[in-house]
Amino acid sequence: MTFRNISKEALAGSITLGLVFVAGYFFGKKKSSTMSISKSHCGGKDNPLMQYVLNHSMREHPVLKKLRLRTMEDSWNIMMVACEQAQFMANLAKLIKAKKALEIGVYTGYNTLNIALALPDDGLVVACDISEEYTNIGKPFWKEAGVEQKIDLRLQPALKTLDDLLSAGQADTFDFAFIDADKVNYDNYFEKCLKLLRKGGIIAVDNVLWSGKVVNPSPDDADTVAIDKLNKKLHRDTRINLSMLTVGDGLTLAIKL
Ligand code: SAM
Ligand code: CA
Repeated sequence: MTFRNISKEALAGSITLGLVFVAGYFFGKKKSSTMSISKSHCGGKDNPLMQYVLNHSMREHPVLKKLRLRTMEDSWNIMMVACEQAQFMANLAKLIKAKKALEIGVYTGYNTLNIALALPDDGLVVACDISEEYTNIGKPFWKEAGVEQKIDLRLQPALKTLDDLLSAGQADTFDFAFIDADKVNYDNYFEKCLKLLRKGGIIAVDNVLWSGKVVNPSPDDADTVAIDKLNKKLHRDTRINLSMLTVGDGLTLAIKL
């Protein structure tokens, strides 16, 4: 894990939080009726509408909750997926009767555990990350939840793991993929995941709004440029059905045709 790999996501989150705070301070009194829903780590203290959403929808597994609270002690916790988004993706995985999943970017493994819990007993999540430090945080919780045997953690660049799976003849066998690692490789991850997915399988691409920066990408900002380029490409991609959702920091769902 290099500082460069994590700093953009963390920085984007911090800037968003800062802007939300400042905007809330200046406009809160005048515009109190126009609440918006933003990314959450399962607490909506400063956002009553988000708190309502969480109070009326979350059914977080007790071990997922423990892992979330442990993750909140980590200084890079802004990288964790939003809990309501994770629950939505678990429901999607169940809906398509997923058995094999890919997690591209694990961090402390909240969504890895979330998807493992959604899979049947003979299901498998191939979990890709380069950080032993972060993934070690999650491992005891995977064990406690009784799903560690469903998680195949591969500590090497995710592109290498995806190539290994393709070389091992696993094209067209995966049901679900969550792309959430380094943004400059998003298009490469998408293309390899599409090959690995069966027809009707779903690729979920995270952070497709990148705190709103995709609206006006700076040419010097490689992460924003990469995300915007993929967003534009997927819009006209005839190999998939497509939705872009405003949950979390933006989530694209691509269904393989
Ligand atoms: N999906 C996670 C969750 O549910 O909370 C969050 C993932 S976090 C935003 C991004 C992760 O991608 C980090 O843990 C980082 O170590 C990992 N990463 C960065 N570059 C990578 C690469 N080239 N290959 C695999 N993982 C990478
Ligand atoms: Ca993310």
